[in-house]
Amino acid sequence: MNIVSEPNSIPAGSVLSPEANQAAALATATGVLSVDLDAVVANWRKLEKTAVPAECAGVIKADAYGCGLEPVARALANAGCKTFFVATLDEARAARAAIPSAALYVLDGFIQNSGEAYAKIDARPVIGDLNELAEWDVFCRRTGWAGGAAIHIDTGMNRLGLTLAEAQGIIPRINAGDHGITLVMSHLACAESLNHPLNARQLASFRQIASVFSGVPASLANSSGIFLGAPFQFDLVRPGAALYGVNPTPESDNPMQPVVELKARVVQIRDVERGESVGYGATWTTRRPTRLAIVSAGYGDGYFRAGGSNDGTRGAEVMAAGKRCPIAGRISMDLMAIDITDLEKNAVRRGHLVTLIGDGITVDELAHHFGTIGYEVLTSLGSRYARVYKGGTADGAVG
Ligand SMILES: *Cc1c(COP(=O)(O)O)cnc(C)c1O
Repeated sequence: MNIVSEPNSIPAGSVLSPEANQAAALATATGVLSVDLDAVVANWRKLEKTAVPAECAGVIKADAYGCGLEPVARALANAGCKTFFVATLDEARAARAAIPSAALYVLDGFIQNSGEAYAKIDARPVIGDLNELAEWDVFCRRTGWAGGAAIHIDTGMNRLGLTLAEAQGIIPRINAGDHGITLVMSHLACAESLNHPLNARQLASFRQIASVFSGVPASLANSSGIFLGAPFQFDLVRPGAALYGVNPTPESDNPMQPVVELKARVVQIRDVERGESVGYGATWTTRRPTRLAIVSAGYGDGYFRAGGSNDGTRGAEVMAAGKRCPIAGRISMDLMAIDITDLEKNAVRRGHLVTLIGDGITVDELAHHFGTIGYEVLTSLGSRYARVYKGGTADGAVG
């Protein structure tokens, strides 16, 4: 994506340089998504401090959880992050262009015949079964490539990874040296639940495996896993969601800083009589003469339809003129209505921006109203918003 410099021709969804185009974006965009790169970096530093002496990596899959893979990768690399995880080879290509010298792992495993693609960008597959390992070995032997790979061991999630028995089976190979394995890892299924019994079981299994993979760095913890304590941290931790402000400890206060702010424009103010219905399905009825602001964001922008309200259920809220205003009726594809009756007259006008995320409305709060988790709120953030990046260092400027 390119920086757009002419103030009169800013398409929604374009990436804007920090200050020069921000005013222009605010002037014309229907929605503005701001990503605070300094907050991402502050969150990374906090996680790093919590996990020290373990290394703190950065997980930047799914466009850095909707926050922008390249700007986030650059900001983290500039802050000292040396190891990154993405899900796919395409993401690895994009990341490699932004961070030329970091270690880069691809979580989704090794797809047949993709060896050359890994070597070309010096990325490392996270190998999740014995077929993948055999193919990777053939590729490395044939080409002499020695860029490294991770071995993923399944300790109870039953998604990706060698079984414990399979892991035992490759120990002789590890002991033989020159094995090309740069990381042994597993993934926690229930890390956000402090007392879930699976955490201890996975830890015990992984400990055993890590101890026999002697000399190979080990990694178990995602964001929430870091907060399960030092025994879970091993040599490297792999936070994703917490970097972007999602609460890694949902049973207590959020230790992370918010990263994302989302605003959308009021396109119309309308007054409705008492007893009228609002929106699709006529599910929400005014109980008093009501003033509505029609706001230009909807489920087509990743603001889930589940966040709407009806006569029985209060939905999500939007900050307008410093006050929380309830959503009135269903969320449409491109629009929603909010009830601004309780605001002072003219406090919100056509053209004003209201806040969907930020100003006390957290990603986790919205997730609650949407019936999901903060991860899905972030990765659903729409492509129609103008994006503004704040912070990051000079040589990490957004391009
Ligand atoms: C996505 C992912 C992470 C990051 O998880 P968060 O919960 O976002 O911190 C770490 N490890 C693996 C294997 C993952 O798939």
